[in-house]
Amino acid sequence: MTLFLDHDVHPLRENGLFIGGEWIARSVSGRSFDVRNPATGAVVATLPDGGAPETEEAIERAVEAQRSWGTTTGPYRARILERAFELMEEHADGLARIVTQEQGKPLAEAIAEVGYGSSFLHWFAGEAERIYGRTVPASQENKRILVIRNPVGVTGAITPWNFPVAMVTRKVAPALAAGCTVVLKPSELTPLSALAVASLLKEAGLPNGVLSVVCGLDAAAIGDVMLDDGRVRKITFTGSTRVGKSLIRRSADSVKRVSMELGGQAPFIVFADADLEAAADGLLAAKMRNTGQSCIAANRVFVERAVEREFTRMIADRMGRLRVGNGLDDAVDVGPLINAAALDKVERHVRDAVDRGAELVLGSSRLREAFFEPTVIAGVDDGMLVAREETFGPLAAVLPFDTEDEVVARANGTEYGLAAYYYTRDVGRVMRLADRLEFGIQGVNDGFVSVAQAPFGGLKHSGLGREGGSEGIEEFLETKYLSLAV
Ligand code: NAP
Repeated sequence: MTLFLDHDVHPLRENGLFIGGEWIARSVSGRSFDVRNPATGAVVATLPDGGAPETEEAIERAVEAQRSWGTTTGPYRARILERAFELMEEHADGLARIVTQEQGKPLAEAIAEVGYGSSFLHWFAGEAERIYGRTVPASQENKRILVIRNPVGVTGAITPWNFPVAMVTRKVAPALAAGCTVVLKPSELTPLSALAVASLLKEAGLPNGVLSVVCGLDAAAIGDVMLDDGRVRKITFTGSTRVGKSLIRRSADSVKRVSMELGGQAPFIVFADADLEAAADGLLAAKMRNTGQSCIAANRVFVERAVEREFTRMIADRMGRLRVGNGLDDAVDVGPLINAAALDKVERHVRDAVDRGAELVLGSSRLREAFFEPTVIAGVDDGMLVAREETFGPLAAVLPFDTEDEVVARANGTEYGLAAYYYTRDVGRVMRLADRLEFGIQGVNDGFVSVAQAPFGGLKHSGLGREGGSEGIEEFLETKYLSLAV
């Protein structure tokens, strides 16, 4: 197996599959697969193609390790997580280069992602020391009631390609903090970032078997082994709603706990009384981060009719100045899309809107192989594809509205409920919207909402459970109560 990274990046001096604390250079099948840079198509690395046998082995090792890891103290686990946090900070540049090479985002964004990703290690190191039980007043004098918390146990974690470091640490850090062992399957498109995180955790002192990383082309084969094994007590997944639903169904057979971070369809609402400059800056962050390939990306930009023209011009000015290209080049603001299917989807959304009468304000074309121009369309209505599906690309669709009641109903008119953004100076309206909008994450005059301290997650078809915050560790803990006669 060869590694073609353009630097001798520390976190990946060793590589392969990471099973039971060992680096495995050959898959059982003998097959391997290439990881490519989406900006150039160049092969970044070639990895063994793991599948069912590797997943079975990883689960065996996790079951063994669970016995000891599950009884370690919180402060012990906290020290390992905190050391991994420090290592990730130390190697942020190298890790960011891996992210950019396999995922495409500009280096500055990759560095920001590594910072966000490492913050989960730090946050959950703290939470590991705060796994509290309770005593409950009993109704009889000779009784005591105690509530205790234990780790859920062996956890199967499945992560997507769009934030290949942060989506891993957002799951692995709380699981480890709670005392769970983890078998991780990262996206086949971005396995190197996950392997690098595992390598840093190993260096930080994580015992063998507590975390394994199985990479491979057959996601369903790996997932099926996790789902079919009754010893895996928890599935935590980030990805599409379609795959998430199938994992929920399959988890029912062995009644596994599930956490699901699924798709979004975020409304971004601009009222006429808003600070429009702040709203335009906020939209740029909420729309263009990771070339729009984010589950919390603003997908429907609702603008009150009185300021629709002015606001559309402001965002077109900003988006028109962004430089598109290879994320490894310093001057680049917007990277490639992940693959041809992603480009096709953006193109289809633009064509459908324009064919049905929307106005093209900026962009609309593919640029070379893997890139799409930042694009703005106005006069969009709720029936157009772009208003009904997650675009996952650099397309801002502006939908005019007239009243608060109307925009709340239209914003909620989707099966998704992940993130919503609204810009207004009216405090009363903020509180009304907070209650009425059916979205788990709300940016109020704020386009940048992801932090480790806050509970991240969606309502409706956007998911189950929360990641981050004090809620994040709850997902990996069981509750038992003791009724004690004294
Ligand atoms: P995806 O196709 O569902 O893939 C996500 C992960 O699931 C990947 O590791 C994938 O493996 C794996 N997978 C696919 N089919 C599987 C199966 N049958 N069994 C087990 N695993 C399977 O989603 P994606 O296109 O990579 O990610 C984009 C989606 O994720 C968007 O909808 C986005 O909104 C959502 N997302 C949500 C959040 C959130 O926090 N709510 C965050 C980020 C992204 P391979 O890649 O190897 O096929």
